[in-house]
Amino acid sequence: MRAIVIDKDDEGYRATLTEVEEVGLPDGDVTVRVEYSTLNYKDSLAITGSSPIVRSFPMVPGVDLAGTVTESSHAGFAPGDRVVLNGWGVGESHWGGFAERARVDGNWLVLLPEQLTTRQAAGIGTAGYTAMLCVLRLEELGVAPGAGPIVVTGAAGGVGSVAVTLLAGFGYEVVASTGRTAEAGYLQSLGAAEVIDRTELSEPGRPLGKQRWAGAVDTVGSHTLANVCATTRYGGVVTACGLAQGHDLPATVMPFILRGVTLAGVDSVNCPMPRRLEAWERLTADLRPEHLEMMTSEIGLSQVIDMAAEQLAGRVRGRLVVDVQA
Ligand code: NDP
Repeated sequence: MRAIVIDKDDEGYRATLTEVEEVGLPDGDVTVRVEYSTLNYKDSLAITGSSPIVRSFPMVPGVDLAGTVTESSHAGFAPGDRVVLNGWGVGESHWGGFAERARVDGNWLVLLPEQLTTRQAAGIGTAGYTAMLCVLRLEELGVAPGAGPIVVTGAAGGVGSVAVTLLAGFGYEVVASTGRTAEAGYLQSLGAAEVIDRTELSEPGRPLGKQRWAGAVDTVGSHTLANVCATTRYGGVVTACGLAQGHDLPATVMPFILRGVTLAGVDSVNCPMPRRLEAWERLTADLRPEHLEMMTSEIGLSQVIDMAAEQLAGRVRGRLVVDVQA
């Protein structure tokens, strides 16, 4: 089968598109014919070796996969079932989605609802499901539509694009923060009420600033997250899921102790199954298919390695679906 394989040995760290024997697939009780994967930020870090994502070698990267079950000894899945998998260490410590076949633990799989194609499921992928996890946290922590503006940082990226369309669809007033103001039209068509230049938030700032946001979805971290917290209104909620600017958080406690701001962390990789199912149900019901298509571009397996560097350079808009069989 064709697969992207990451190796690390005396010759260094490298990712190649190659042929591997299917018998080499790792242990698992379900085998999936992978139809689509996606290129997430984390996959690009893994492929380029920019961050120690990969835990064992050789590794097939790809934290997402969507496809059809071909073999199963798991009670919950049978051949012919259409499934999606996000995270659980797949693509990091267990072979992932950038291969024509995957063998996985059935407990990691979500059965796809009738309404979603495998291409759409991959288009949503970890990025879209994480965006929904952020929205769920905002809702649970009491940030209702009408509460005030919600800022989404890294808005033209994958998590950002899905967060913008979801929040706007639920009636929130969305402010999209982007380094690509040329994408203002794209972000407005997804539902952003306002588009701001990310430099408003990305430079070192003060402990507290003018109260602007009722809530936030931050995919960027570092000074941006610090400034978002410092400019969140009294009682507001900031969900933090990303580190595109950096993994540091050069902030003070002032927004938390003087304005009661809540900083809520969001993880997709080890998120428990009931929560995943809730997120996928809401995505199936509420993510507009035409918006998903608008934010989705498609590449083949042979383009993945080149696109990884593009993604880390912030030049990929929305979601990149990978047609693994092409
Ligand atoms: P993308 O590459 O699609 O989007 C990242 C966006 O961040 C870019 O499009 C850009 O948006 C912005 N950005 C990039 N570099 C910088 C920078 N130096 N300073 C400020 N903004 C920058 O990635 P994803 O949407 O897939 O992921 C976003 C982040 O969320 C990543 O850090 C990823 O690791 C994390 N993540 C975490 C998950 C979790 O479980 N916690 C799950 C999924 C993702 P723009 O051009 O609009 O400014």
